[in-house]
Amino acid sequence: REIALLGIHDSVGGVFPPTELADELADLPVPVEVVDTDGTDTCDAVVTRKYDDSFLELEWVHSIQAGVDRFPFDEFEANDVILTNSTGIHDRTVGETVAGYLLAFSRRLHTAIAAQQDRRWERPEWDEAFTLPGKTACVLGTGTLGSGVADTLGSLGVHVTGVRRSGDPVPGFEAVFPTEDRHAAVADADFVIVTLPLTDDTHHLADAEFFDAMRDDAYFVNVGRGSIVDESALVDALESDSIEGAGLDVFETEPLPAESPLWEMDEVIITPHCAAFTVDYFRDVGGLVRENVERLAADESVVNRVI
Ligand code: NAD
Repeated sequence: REIALLGIHDSVGGVFPPTELADELADLPVPVEVVDTDGTDTCDAVVTRKYDDSFLELEWVHSIQAGVDRFPFDEFEANDVILTNSTGIHDRTVGETVAGYLLAFSRRLHTAIAAQQDRRWERPEWDEAFTLPGKTACVLGTGTLGSGVADTLGSLGVHVTGVRRSGDPVPGFEAVFPTEDRHAAVADADFVIVTLPLTDDTHHLADAEFFDAMRDDAYFVNVGRGSIVDESALVDALESDSIEGAGLDVFETEPLPAESPLWEMDEVIITPHCAAFTVDYFRDVGGLVRENVERLAADESVVNRVI
């Protein structure tokens, strides 16, 4: 494939300044330019966060996110457009965000921050704070995110189990269950953590029955995609105290609507889909893009190919 001009679509600006990535890639043999949607018709390839129909005229589209559930796979295939994603770079960032939720819940930091907003000097009840060593976390999805979470929590003394389709063992997980046994897998866990992609199979995988299977003192975490969770079932589980709390980065509707009851819940931590944010994001994406530009020039197969 001939790439004469690589565009950095301005939608990446939701995560880092597009010019940072353009500068990072300035030494490529291919010219790199920041473009808006109208400007993509001069390009052969774009690096982007959002999807636009005009991309179906291109040779190659690279998503700066790992999740590409909003891209129309069939149309990419029909138009012979390569789609690559950014899986592989979010292990430590998301792992540390999840560790942050767990440390906030265990050390009661979220309630201290809430009290600070009102200048209230308010200590937790004697039996509210706890420590993480010896606690158990069940991680659904054992890919990049799942492994990053397992690694980070493992170093805090948490026992980590996993759920994947095959149920085969994965390094870093003390036990692995097949997806169909997920209710048994989460039954004993202090923390249940979703790191899955959104697919037809994972849509609403965490439903009322799933939350019923969890312990009533367990915390739920979602850093995968909002629609993996039946959000009204999650709200019901939280309101009826059938689970203890939740750390949520992704939602069925983003931004999370102002009227969502989740905003007001004491044991819910909300982050605005930024679990993977880091000042180095553009460098990490740049590494993947550079490699694929070189592979395309050498007529080799690209990495992280989705379509
Ligand atoms: P990955 O491809 O490395 O891992 C995904 C894993 O899920 C794979 O091991 C895959 O086999 C497994 N899987 C797929 N369907 C399954 C099912 N039905 N049951 C069990 N396992 C299943 O991808 P990743 O980089 O770990 O990212 C995973 C997802 O996390 C992305 O698709 C994206 O939606 C989301 N994500 C969110 C953020 C964020 O900012 N919150 C950042 C990166 C990724």
